Order: sequence, then structure tokens, then C-alpha cells
Amino acid sequence: MASLRKIILATRNHGKVKEMQALLAGLPVELVSATALPDTPEVEEDAPTLEGNARKKAEALHTHTGLPALADDTGLEVAALDGAPGIHSARYAGLHADDAANRAHLRQALTGQADRRARFRTVVALAEGRQVRFFEGVCEGRIIEEERGAGGFGYDALFVPDGETRTFAEMSAAEKNRISHRGRALHKVAAYLRELLIQD
Ligand code: IMP
Repeated sequence: MASLRKIILATRNHGKVKEMQALLAGLPVELVSATALPDTPEVEEDAPTLEGNARKKAEALHTHTGLPALADDTGLEVAALDGAPGIHSARYAGLHADDAANRAHLRQALTGQADRRARFRTVVALAEGRQVRFFEGVCEGRIIEEERGAGGFGYDALFVPDGETRTFAEMSAAEKNRISHRGRALHKVAAYLRELLIQD
């Protein structure tokens, strides 16, 4: 399927582009960040699910460029908060909240709470032709009471994955990518593309 050789990534986040490029290294695929393109459409992430937002972003970019497009959406789902902040993870503490404010809000919401179970969930959408395919990655873990670690971003300093004692923020990027929600979803994308390109 020659049309999959150039793929547009619906992200301006350089770290995500590099992570995806590393996962697809060795395959005859050229990944192009949306940043490299002029006039890319601004997409409002107002769908009620991660799937819906990932689909919106991937479809908009695919329509704009005519090329296969990949988009991801991630949420932190906390058991004791009935799955919140979920799709609202980026603005949990308010519309213009930064990562530190969101973490403080989460700590506050879980004060005195014994059930600390949480998971990160990423949905990646691949829009091509009239089809959209979804790839999901989940990382189960728990929210600790005090922040630890200086790496990562978002809720990393509060999240300890199952089977680990360190937070994501105490791991190297490579260590985190191996077990993270996004890493797992992107692995599935890479496996799918590898299959297609082998058949090519
Ligand atoms: P996005 O869909 O990747 O933009 O993620 C939405 C929000 O979820 C971000 O603003 C972060 O607060 C949080 N988030 C996403 N991925 C991670 C992660 O790997 N670690 C910590 N927080 C994350």
C-alpha cells in the first residue's frame, strides 16, 4: 500500500514526533509533523471521548493534506474520581491551567482517599481514505500523595505504574516509553504499518 509511505502526525509536540519516528525506524515510512505544513486546520477537541477527539484531529488533517494522518488523545482516568479527569486532563484545574496546577488539583481531589488506582489511556486514530482505525494503549498504576521526580510532563510526577516503585517523572524517556500508554498505542500502530508495508 504505497499511499501509506508518507504519514502526517497531527501534533506540534516534538517529543511525540521523535517517539513515533524511533518506533518506526527501519520502515520505509516518512513521518511529517503537522508543524512542517502551512495552514493546518485548528481542531477544537470538544468530543466527549478520547476516540472522538483523536478521530477529529486525524480526519481534519487527512482532509487537508490528502495523506494518511495520525492523531492521538490521552487522558488520566482515576478510579476514585469515576474516571476523571479523563478527556479534561489538560484543563483539569481550569481552561488555562498548567501542569503544576493540574497536579495540585488532583492531589487535592484525592486527599484522604485510600483508593489511589489510576490509569493513563491513549487512543491513536489513523485516518486514511474513508476509514479511521483506532489503536489503544493503557498503563495502569496509582497516584501517590507527594510529587517525585523532575522528568516528564503532565501528571508524571504523581503516577507510579504497576510493578514499579518510581514515578514516570523519575524514569528516563526511553524507560517510560517502553511501558507507557502512548508507547503501547504507538507500538500497535507500528505493528499495523509494518504488516501493511511487508504486504506492499
Ligand atoms: P494529550 O492528549 O497528549 O494532549 O494529553 C492531555 C493531557 O493529559 C496533557 O495535558 C497531560 O496533562 C496529560 N498527559 C498526557 N500524556 C501524559 C503522560 O505521558 N504523562 C503525564 N501526563 C500526561
